[in-house]
Amino acid sequence: MTTVLSIEQNLFDLAPGSYAMDWDNVGLLVGHREAQVKKALLALDADDATVAEAVEEGYDLLITHHPLIYKPLYHLTGDSGPERRVEALLRGNVALVSMHTNLDAARGGVNDALAEALGLTEVEDFLNEDAREGIPSIGRVGTVEEMAPAAFLEQACRALDTNGGRYYLCRRVRRVAVGGGGCADYLTDAYRAGCDTFLTADCKYHNFTLAADLGINLIDLGHYATEYVVLPRMKSRLEKAFPEVEFTLSARERDVVGVVAPPKKG
Ligand SMILES: [Zn+2]
Repeated sequence: MTTVLSIEQNLFDLAPGSYAMDWDNVGLLVGHREAQVKKALLALDADDATVAEAVEEGYDLLITHHPLIYKPLYHLTGDSGPERRVEALLRGNVALVSMHTNLDAARGGVNDALAEALGLTEVEDFLNEDAREGIPSIGRVGTVEEMAPAAFLEQACRALDTNGGRYYLCRRVRRVAVGGGGCADYLTDAYRAGCDTFLTADCKYHNFTLAADLGINLIDLGHYATEYVVLPRMKSRLEKAFPEVEFTLSARERDVVGVVAPPKKG
């Protein structure tokens, strides 16, 4: 019998809890460790769509990247999204396990998946401001066959199946730093690491002006697309470890961020 505990432990073998940042909240967040798991659903977020899917389709476990509970919940009255969804999971007998910044850092986690999807070789740790002794960094650096920045941008958009992005491009691409999700503040670290290109998400206007000052390409392909790449890999790993359990990628989850194309001028 496979339990929530055995799956949680397997995920912690991949992404140890000690890799998580101090402010994070990873592991089993809802449910009981001894509960049996026959069907598990994987998603980036425990939002209304994925929680409803897990409950309605009879899943025993929801595995997400982003934790549903970051801050203390002082009551469960349905007044906020997290309160509503914790209640729905409990009523539906669905456990919730989240692997967040520990999975960002882990070998075979978010950033290795991102580097692999982009075709980076000679992949190594990205020594940025959050790098910690003895723990893989949040981010990776690697190389690609030298190419024009527009060609790399197009290749990356395809590889990540993004719904859009923003960029500052000024030079040819060879050495690339990646940081899945909101890693824009590592831009200077990417420059110091000798990278010509930094691909991440959640960039502000001033990250782009700094990229122009430094003379480094900055590509923002969205939080969802730069992290989603880890889910199919995590699913394959879990299927090998627990062949008796059915693992499924959420069919209802969508990137909540839309991208609008500018209207044609004139
Ligand atoms: Zn994220």
